[in-house]
Amino acid sequence: MNKEVLVIGGGPAGIECANSLISLGYKVFIVEKCSEPGGHLRKWDRLFPYGVSASDTLDKLLQKSGKAIFFYDTEVQTINQVDEKFVITLSDDTQLHVSSIVVATGFTLFPAAKKEEYGYGIYNGVITNADLEDGFKTHKKELFKANRVGFVHCVGSRDEKVCNRHCSKVCCVTAVKQACEYKDLNPDAEVYCFYMDLRMFGRGYEDLYLKAQNKYGIRFIRGRVSEVAEDVNGCLVVKAEDTLTSRPLKVTLDLLVLMSGMSKNDDNDKIADMLGIKTEEDGFLSLPEPTLNNCQTVTDGVFLAGSVTGPKTLPETLNEARAAALSVHKYLSR
Ligand SMILES: Cc1cc2nc3c(=O)[nH]c(=O)nc-3n(C[C@H](O)[C@H](O)[C@H](O)COP(=O)(O)OP(=O)(O)OC[C@H]3O[C@@H](n4cnc5c(N)ncnc54)[C@H](O)[C@@H]3O)c2cc1C
Ligand code: SF4
Repeated sequence: MNKEVLVIGGGPAGIECANSLISLGYKVFIVEKCSEPGGHLRKWDRLFPYGVSASDTLDKLLQKSGKAIFFYDTEVQTINQVDEKFVITLSDDTQLHVSSIVVATGFTLFPAAKKEEYGYGIYNGVITNADLEDGFKTHKKELFKANRVGFVHCVGSRDEKVCNRHCSKVCCVTAVKQACEYKDLNPDAEVYCFYMDLRMFGRGYEDLYLKAQNKYGIRFIRGRVSEVAEDVNGCLVVKAEDTLTSRPLKVTLDLLVLMSGMSKNDDNDKIADMLGIKTEEDGFLSLPEPTLNNCQTVTDGVFLAGSVTGPKTLPETLNEARAAALSVHKYLSR
């Protein structure tokens, strides 16, 4: 009777939630707005902290999702509740009748061009963490010829000016991982990380940080970059304040990598409205009882999974996806 579940979003959270639901005997529909599954995981090359291949990880997740029914290039248009069922209309006019819904629509990478002072989209030598990840993945050799490279932490995170007070959690460790990978490809490069605090909270993260200093000689400068400009030779002149010594700094670099953070999706409000749930001040979807339950919402039968509720690492995302599947099962077996 109550065996059909809709998962909105076909990223890691949506796929793993579907996998768990299928193993519990449910029929699962996944609505994905892009043309392929995998969300942001599809864009990464090697995962922190151990360097595991992102595409192998995605393949393993997808191997188990064979029985899920995917709708690609599709979004949810309307949701109506009739008795205890949800009647869903998709953008291709398909109608689905399901007993429960899991929202797993993830996050948006902060658009670095909004921080004009860093020169993204203006200077060729300024790229983002996602651009560099793409460079690793597609072996863009010309990207790894720079002799002086800087990583700017907290781009679009912990920043009142862009209305993102939150810490994006994954970008300190991503910067350290990418800095080490850069040195592997260009051992002669001088590499700097400009940070506010280093948040290396996870298992294996501190070891990676120590390796970055001791094995790779990466220089960590505590200070926020205030301005980036290009000199007559086409090099990047980066101004910052070293907040440990309280001295202004000027460094000339060939490549600057902006660590764009994890921001809310623009359509979170629309999804929240359709489902009678709320968003937080930062725009991520709200959890009424975040301490006791990290996937429950105020609407019966509607659950959340992964980074749609805030920045998360992949293992955290996958654990939440499994928890959301169990919550659906508990709800439908009540
Ligand atoms: C630069 C960077 C590097 C990272 N590297 C690592 C790493 O090395 N290791 C690690 O553990 N974590 C890493 N992470 C974190 C990791 O990417 C996330 O934990 C993971 O992607 C979250 O998965 P998700 O499914 O919640 O969201 P997403 O990956 O964002 O997937 C959401 C999916 O939902 C779809 N969607 C969105 N809106 C809709 C809609 N309205 N309708 C239908 N579909 C929709 C999207 O198209 C997407 O496919 C990194 C993050 C960043 C920013
Ligand atoms: S994880 Fe690090 S770089 Fe990312 S927002 Fe937090 S402090 Fe800044």
